[in-house]
Amino acid sequence: MPFCDDSFLLSSPAAADLYHGVAARQPIIDFHCHLSPRDIAEDRRFDNLHSVWLDGDHYKWRALRANGVAEQRITGSATPREKFQAWAETVPDTLRNPLFHWTHLELRRHFGIDDLLDGTTAQRVWDEANRQLATADLTTRGILRRWNVEVVGTTDDPADSLQWHEALLRAPCSTRVVPTFRPDACLKVHQPDRVQAWAQRLADSSGRAADTLPGLMAAIEKRHDDFAAVGCRASDHGLASLPSTSCTAAEAATIWQRAMTGTPATAAEVEQFTLWIMLHVARLNHDKGWAMQMHLGPFRDPNPRLAQTLGSDAGCDTIGDTLQGPGLVRFLGTLAAENTLPRTILYNINPADNALFAAMPGSFQDGTIPGKIQWGSGWWFMDQERGMRDQLNMLSDLGLLSRFVGMVTDSRSFLSYPRHEYFRRILCDLVGADVASGRLPDHPDFRRDRLVPLIENICSGNARGYFNFPAA
Ligand SMILES: [Zn+2]
Repeated sequence: MPFCDDSFLLSSPAAADLYHGVAARQPIIDFHCHLSPRDIAEDRRFDNLHSVWLDGDHYKWRALRANGVAEQRITGSATPREKFQAWAETVPDTLRNPLFHWTHLELRRHFGIDDLLDGTTAQRVWDEANRQLATADLTTRGILRRWNVEVVGTTDDPADSLQWHEALLRAPCSTRVVPTFRPDACLKVHQPDRVQAWAQRLADSSGRAADTLPGLMAAIEKRHDDFAAVGCRASDHGLASLPSTSCTAAEAATIWQRAMTGTPATAAEVEQFTLWIMLHVARLNHDKGWAMQMHLGPFRDPNPRLAQTLGSDAGCDTIGDTLQGPGLVRFLGTLAAENTLPRTILYNINPADNALFAAMPGSFQDGTIPGKIQWGSGWWFMDQERGMRDQLNMLSDLGLLSRFVGMVTDSRSFLSYPRHEYFRRILCDLVGADVASGRLPDHPDFRRDRLVPLIENICSGNARGYFNFPAA
């Protein structure tokens, strides 16, 4: 079979029919990513293949380090062309890693370049991709248009100004770009300097002094309203785990006040404060009908030397093994008891937690919204063929695949959209294999009435209904 061609990953006629006839035609609802709203507002044209592809992609950085490449040629002072050469020379060594597929899909789909990337083809690929980046419809909005991206949900701090989202409301952009409310910075009460600087930025953006707990709450609520006004329909939270112990409002006030005057919170206080804030944001989300996304499980910055020289989010994190069950049960149970549980999507990073995350939503569905509590798609260290298949299979076993809101790229590059294609091919292969093996009916009526809607809904229909984003 040819490499990465039309039949890539599609091992039955039914799979090929569902992919080419249904999945490939669906719009993309990219409801969680880390693309820059400024880049979209300015319709940025990228200088070269490095700036659109390597700059900011910690998956690639991690592979480069694993391949023995010096940091100078990854995130250091080397020129963009030198860094691209290092990447090109590393690509052949990524075979069987998802990067090998992503890389070649991205070269093929965006630039029509069928070459295998390596040290010898690097110059040709660099020249051709840069020529197209300079002239073709490969600006940020051009890429979104080409990929039929209906919605982009960026990730935004409540202290951010939202100026680019406001500009986008007036811009001729066929994609609806909305912010996502990510208040993680407010939880750093063990780092007074950091949280004080953030509280000042929040005060500036909200017009509410945030140096007391009531002030902080008023500022967060003001920004929640401001985010809603520009189309936000979800919050997002990144935690090692949800704490299982909370505190009273008076205790939370003391923890915040002490952080504001320079006293770091203890580890136990951070946990209590975190759960207190998370419950508060969940209630705000419930009031507005927003979804709450929780990305749980990374072990951040385990290597002090790399953390010191590179800072955070540079590809140095790993899979954590924190116990997830007690915190989730406490959180979801508290909100369910007071009838304030919002739409919730749970993402785990440790595949050992798959069954726990697949089963948990079923205990908190309340018969109001189909698929109200979701287990999110294979993410980060599970974002590859095996992770996706495992997630889709266990979701089918323990929940309702038909209600799944689908693929999340969590991407940092505008070239990452072929990863939706990757997911859709795997989804169609899985369903097609069931048809080919007699596990699902092989009948035109069943195809039309059940399989086509299933694929359409997982590709975009379910997410469209679940988030209810405003129209472009
Ligand atoms: Zn993310």
